[in-house]
Amino acid sequence: MEDKLKELKARLLEVHDLKAAAQLLTWDQNTYMPPGGAAARARQTALLQRLAHEKATDPAIGQLLDDLRPYEESLPYDSDDASLIRLARRDYEQAIKVPPEFVARFYAHQARTYQVWTQARPADDFEMVRPYLEQTLDLSRQLADFFPGYEHIADPLIALTDYGMTVADIRAVFSALREELVPLVREITARPPLDDSCLYRYFPAQPQLDFGLEVVQRFGYDLNRGRQDRSPHPFTTEFSVNDVRITVRVNEHDLGDALFSAFHESGHAMYEQGVAQEYEGTPLAGGASVGVHESQSRLWENLVGRSLPFWRYFYPRLQAAFPDALGSVPLDTFYQAINKVRPSLIRTDADEVTYNLHVMIRFDLELQMLEGTLAVRDLPDAWRARYESDLGIAPQDDRDGVLQDVHWYGEMIGGMFQGYTLGNIMGAQFFEAALQAHPEITAEMEKEGDFRTLLSWLRENIHRHGRKFTAQELVERVTGEPLSVAPYMRYLRRKYGELYGL
Ligand code: ZN
Repeated sequence: MEDKLKELKARLLEVHDLKAAAQLLTWDQNTYMPPGGAAARARQTALLQRLAHEKATDPAIGQLLDDLRPYEESLPYDSDDASLIRLARRDYEQAIKVPPEFVARFYAHQARTYQVWTQARPADDFEMVRPYLEQTLDLSRQLADFFPGYEHIADPLIALTDYGMTVADIRAVFSALREELVPLVREITARPPLDDSCLYRYFPAQPQLDFGLEVVQRFGYDLNRGRQDRSPHPFTTEFSVNDVRITVRVNEHDLGDALFSAFHESGHAMYEQGVAQEYEGTPLAGGASVGVHESQSRLWENLVGRSLPFWRYFYPRLQAAFPDALGSVPLDTFYQAINKVRPSLIRTDADEVTYNLHVMIRFDLELQMLEGTLAVRDLPDAWRARYESDLGIAPQDDRDGVLQDVHWYGEMIGGMFQGYTLGNIMGAQFFEAALQAHPEITAEMEKEGDFRTLLSWLRENIHRHGRKFTAQELVERVTGEPLSVAPYMRYLRRKYGELYGL
């Protein structure tokens, strides 16, 4: 059995390394590659992805997994070997169900659609990209049909991003959240608005980058195993547990852009850096799901990075970095500015409270398209109607409406958005459990800018396990409770109740 396990690991390491090489090409494309390199780069990345897919679906892996089944069943569920075999089997079974010819066709279609979208959005021309999106919907449905036996057509697509969750699970969680969130938004918007003008003064780029990097290192992001670069859209990428990189976008007239994207991406990166070293290059490395990943990024961005205790320590340092813009702005004014709630059109600029409404709109529209109750040509109108009814404002054009997010135009329809809100909910549930175990976390951050207790709790309870547990298993193990919106709503009510005098 030991030999078979060794052979399985060796084969999967080759898959991992081919994918990591493809990732590096993509990282370079998004940071330093000159525009002229695009065509050759697309070809090179596609080759590596194809080779990885061929290796990942080699029948020899299926044979090894069959041979290893008795060994897996003889071990406890949470043992490393059993978990590695279980995850390898899940990946293999997902990969072999989709014909390689379909994978290539879908990738090529995604690349073409993305190119058209990059022109359609600035031109505010939904019609330009509509035929492509109709084909994306068709291909997304075909992809789901490679996994027969589903209850809802989106279930197999959600399994690719948030494994273990179904449409029914997510609908239940989202409707519980919505019931409490909508009245809270109404209460807040009835109050006088907070002033956030201090965030839109002139902030030179370099001190912004330096300050963000200083903070994320204090969080515990390890630069011996990471680095920060600039890119048009912030992202995190990993080539191994020991090389996890972040990028940020800088706007010299909007302080929040680089600052909170650095906090956010460092949360993703610390998760990947915190996976147990012995899982490196195996199916156990990586995050449990998109939702759990987002729970870590949103925890550092919002629960820590937009909190008053955090800024009591760091605000004087921020003022020192930007004396002209912030020297005479008091802490309270700054704290209110970074937590201003206002129904808006753009998801990525939304505040903590209204953010989830943006996600739920997209989730519902995705399901309707997949079910066949909403045609792509009617999507812009459906979008406007939902913004009007949920947020009380509607976009004047499609650029700030249905064309704003890359997901449908760069990937697929289905499984694309639920992870963001699941992440907010789980992040609050994890953070509450951390504070219960270690109430000193708040004082350490406020008095010394010290996050070691918080980070080691996250490492021990979440990061080191990598992909071993599903999101729900992890939530239950860590908090002793199933996934629940209660901690998140408690957090929002307390914080925004104080900010808005509710
Ligand atoms: Zn994220």
